[in-house]
Amino acid sequence: MLKAERYRHFVDYFSKNQPNPVTELHYNNPFQLLVAVILSAQCTDKRINQVTPALFERFPTPQDLAAATSDEVFAYIRSVSYPNNKAKHLVGMGKMLMEVFNGEIPSGIENLQKLPGVGRKTANVIASVIFEEPAMAVDTHVFRVANRIGLTNNARTPLAVEKQLVQNIPKEYIGVAHHWLILHGRYICLARSPKCDICPLTWFCRYYERNNTEAALQRLEAAKLKKAKEAKKKKALNIIDKELRKRSVDN
Ligand code: SF4
Repeated sequence: MLKAERYRHFVDYFSKNQPNPVTELHYNNPFQLLVAVILSAQCTDKRINQVTPALFERFPTPQDLAAATSDEVFAYIRSVSYPNNKAKHLVGMGKMLMEVFNGEIPSGIENLQKLPGVGRKTANVIASVIFEEPAMAVDTHVFRVANRIGLTNNARTPLAVEKQLVQNIPKEYIGVAHHWLILHGRYICLARSPKCDICPLTWFCRYYERNNTEAALQRLEAAKLKKAKEAKKKKALNIIDKELRKRSVDN
C-alpha cells in the first residue's frame, strides 16, 4: 500500500471515529497546561493529574512560581519523575515569563523553547492546543505508532517523524492527529505487545501487514515441506512394495 493511501485511511478513520480528541492532562488555562506538560515529561498523565490540583492552588500564576523557591515547588511534585529538575524548571519558567514575556505564555515554537523545561515537544503541544497552530508534538507514542502504521519511513529521530507527519497530514488535522496517535499508542498499539487483535487499523497498518505476511509465508513453507516429506515417504513405500512383490514372484 502506498504511504499516501495509509495517510488517507488514517485521517478518514480517526476523523470519523474520534473527531474531537483532547489531552488527558487536566488544566483550566494556558499557564496550567504549560506547567502540566512540563511535569508530564517521562511521567504518566494520571500521576500529573494527581499533583496539579494542589500545585495550581498554591501557585496559580507565573508570578507565584517566580516568587517561589524550587524547594517549595518540590514539596508539591515529589511523586512525579525527576522532581528536583522539574521544580527548578518551573521556578525558572515562572521567572522568565515574568521578566521576558510580561507574564503571558508566548506564542511560537522558538519563544516557547526559550522557557526552562520546555523542549520542542512541549512547545509543540502548547502551540497546537493553546494557539491552534499546525504543530505536531512527537512523544514516544507518536513516534512508535506513526512508524508502525507506516506513516513514516526511516524516521529515526522525533524531529524526522514530526517533519514527515506535518508534511503529509492535511493542515487542519495536524493538531488532532497528535492526540489520535498518542491515545492509540496508550490504549491499543502498546509498546511491548500491540493489541492488533482488537485494532481497527489492521487493514492499512504496515506492521500488521508485514508480520502477517511473514507468518502466512512461514505457514505456506511448512505446508510445502510436509507435502514433500509425505510424497517422499509414499515413493519409498512404493519401491519397497514393488520389491516385495518381485521377490514373491521369483520365489
Ligand atoms: S494493527 Fe497492531 S501494530 Fe498496527 S496500529 Fe494496530 S495495534 Fe498497532
